[in-house]
Amino acid sequence: MTTINPSECPTKKKCFASREAALRFEEEVQAKYPNQMRQYAYACEDCPNWHLSSLPPEARELSKSRPAPVIPPADHKDTTRREQILALKRQGLSITEIARRTGVVYQTAYGYCVNAGLHIPTSSGTRPSIKPALTVESLSREEQELQAKLHDIQRKRQQLIEAKALKIGSCSQGVRIEKEGNILALSFGDAEQLIEKLSDYLTAPQPASTAIS
Ligand SMILES: [Zn+2]
Repeated sequence: MTTINPSECPTKKKCFASREAALRFEEEVQAKYPNQMRQYAYACEDCPNWHLSSLPPEARELSKSRPAPVIPPADHKDTTRREQILALKRQGLSITEIARRTGVVYQTAYGYCVNAGLHIPTSSGTRPSIKPALTVESLSREEQELQAKLHDIQRKRQQLIEAKALKIGSCSQGVRIEKEGNILALSFGDAEQLIEKLSDYLTAPQPASTAIS
């Protein structure tokens, strides 16, 4: 095999020592996988090897006349993005808008702007609290808001009282007693007995925790 360690080329392509070696490899591939897209041998500009590419030689010559696309390393990309964010901030855009336009997360854009001194972080502690001057109107509004709140509290309280109340209703063959989700269904006979026992129990002098029997 004439291939060389692929890590020797920055393109990470399979390396061949010569055009012949690359073409031989391509022939083997075509023999094995006839449907595979045909590849062409070319001399690499980044390493002393030959590689295979789906780009035909004519197209390769054309692409050479144009400036090669620059793939910046990751940190360079971050720098350009940072510059872009700071430029937008200098134009007066909000961080939310910058994040939306550049596609970076809000926190990243925020961090860049704060570090560059283009954005002053606001915290509730340092923000000056501006109290509106008291007027009849402002007090009326406050009174209305408080009344609405009071009404809401009263409504909730009433709902709770109703939910906790003992409810007596009818069921198919008797009486239905409900208390906070517990339901007791009694026949009319049982209900009459309960009334008797309850009245005896409540009128008789008794210790606090005597069970009805
Ligand atoms: Zn190469």
